[in-house]
Amino acid sequence: MTASRSVQTVTGSVAPEALGRTLIHEHVLVGYPGWNLDALAPRFVRAEVMARAVDQMQELRDLGVRTFVDPCPMDLGRDVEFLAELALKSGMQIVCTTGAYFEAEGITHTFRHLPIEEITAIYIKEITEGVGDTGIRAGAVKIATGAQQVSEYERKLVQAGARAARETGVPLISHTQEASCGHEQIDLVTGEGVPANRLVVGHSDGIDDHDYHRGLAERGAFVGFDRFGIALILPDEVRVKNVLKLARAGYTQNILLSHDSIVCWQGRPVPFANRHEEILAALPDWRPTMIFRKVVPELRAGGLGEEDIATILVDNPRRLFAGA
Ligand SMILES: [Zn+2]
Repeated sequence: MTASRSVQTVTGSVAPEALGRTLIHEHVLVGYPGWNLDALAPRFVRAEVMARAVDQMQELRDLGVRTFVDPCPMDLGRDVEFLAELALKSGMQIVCTTGAYFEAEGITHTFRHLPIEEITAIYIKEITEGVGDTGIRAGAVKIATGAQQVSEYERKLVQAGARAARETGVPLISHTQEASCGHEQIDLVTGEGVPANRLVVGHSDGIDDHDYHRGLAERGAFVGFDRFGIALILPDEVRVKNVLKLARAGYTQNILLSHDSIVCWQGRPVPFANRHEEILAALPDWRPTMIFRKVVPELRAGGLGEEDIATILVDNPRRLFAGA
């Protein structure tokens, strides 16, 4: 494997050095499997959502963001043509992923019955040839595990994802539930021959546990503090405190920041309960701009210098994709 590889965006490949300031885990469209069968859910009006998404990308570009990684699993309402149109309209570099969601919330019937070799081949096809017949290629692999233990189904998908990453040289971005099983993810990924520094253990900020964060970083993985603004899980001041602790412990190079924000939650977000707008109203800081408007100033006040900020927002995403 070469140290410098190109990064596949939904509108073509770029050098890792061209990624610039990057949000590593945000979403444009999300929808639980079957969302489009829910005739009582709010209607998805594509043109309206596109206009909103373009506005958001322009706001992020004004804040210096050059790359927006949307690690939407293939079974969670992923729409790569929507992303490509958005990238062209907004000028944002957008990276999409291949890979399926965790067992409890994914579309399990198909993948349960496919052997690992075929799942690996499907992922590789999406990375090297494109999703469906769109020619739009995935730039990373999404892996996902459930709460507290990895099911057989998830183990197979994570291993397939790692094999696809190994064959193609793209990185892995994960979903964890309840900030658990990060070590199991590292075990599975490295067990397939992929170094831990090609993996972001996502949603690790969901637990106030410095030892957990530090343990992941010690093994070389990137630690995703990627749910800023989701105060239902933890207040942001706890996230900021834990980012500062990890940086002070010498692991600035393992920190990635994001919000896991969503432009449009298709269908109904929490089964049969809320609308996306209600959740947004309840979480005023859950916006993909908050890291720049609120969090970075707090990190500075907590002692991080400009060099540290650039390491986290620019160098770390570049190293994740470059594998250097
Ligand atoms: Zn996500």
